[in-house]
Amino acid sequence: MKLILLGPPGAGKGTQAVELAKRRGIPQLSTGDMLRAAVKAGTEIGRKAEAVMKAGGLVSDEIVIGIIADRIAEPDCAGGFILDGFPRTLKQAAALDELLDTKGTILDAVIELKVDDEALLARIENRARETIAAGGTPRADDNAEALKTRLWAYYKETAPLIGYYFAQGKLKSINGMAPIADVARQIDALLEA
Ligand code: ADP
Repeated sequence: MKLILLGPPGAGKGTQAVELAKRRGIPQLSTGDMLRAAVKAGTEIGRKAEAVMKAGGLVSDEIVIGIIADRIAEPDCAGGFILDGFPRTLKQAAALDELLDTKGTILDAVIELKVDDEALLARIENRARETIAAGGTPRADDNAEALKTRLWAYYKETAPLIGYYFAQGKLKSINGMAPIADVARQIDALLEA
């Protein structure tokens, strides 16, 4: 099964993608995680991406498309995967369709998590607070200033994908404001439908 989880920053894509990946026995592919790992490792991609990510902007299509093309060619993706944080632009969506087409396969569904804007800042501030309380370092972009830029990028670049996938008949929207377990149940129910 090949799925995309779509939604604004703080919508709960990562939380749901990790759990769904476990339930389905397929990998969760988070471009955000991959890019953060590249920054930490100090690779060339990491060096290019670091400042943009910290400010809450989008890393170039070329970089993320390359990362995903390499990753989905790995053997563990043969049985399917869950994309979390990719695609984020129409160009990335078109590149993904092309990539899958060359493999003779297609996406099964795109799950949109709908969350009120006001809830997003609270969730992100909460994530930063919990990380600090647990003795960790919060993400460089989990602050009010970077969130503004991330939301702007979401509405300008990523929200148009809702129409793109609706037109393909692949879009399934669910209420991301419900408790985590309820959202998970909603996802399972619509994948079974
Ligand atoms: P979020 O909580 O905002 O959904 P992610 O962990 O998915 O965060 O991504 C963090 C940052 O990594 C983004 O703000 C962006 O700078 C970069 N990034 C991740 N995925 C992409 C992508 N597909 N295209 C461009 N930039 C990306």
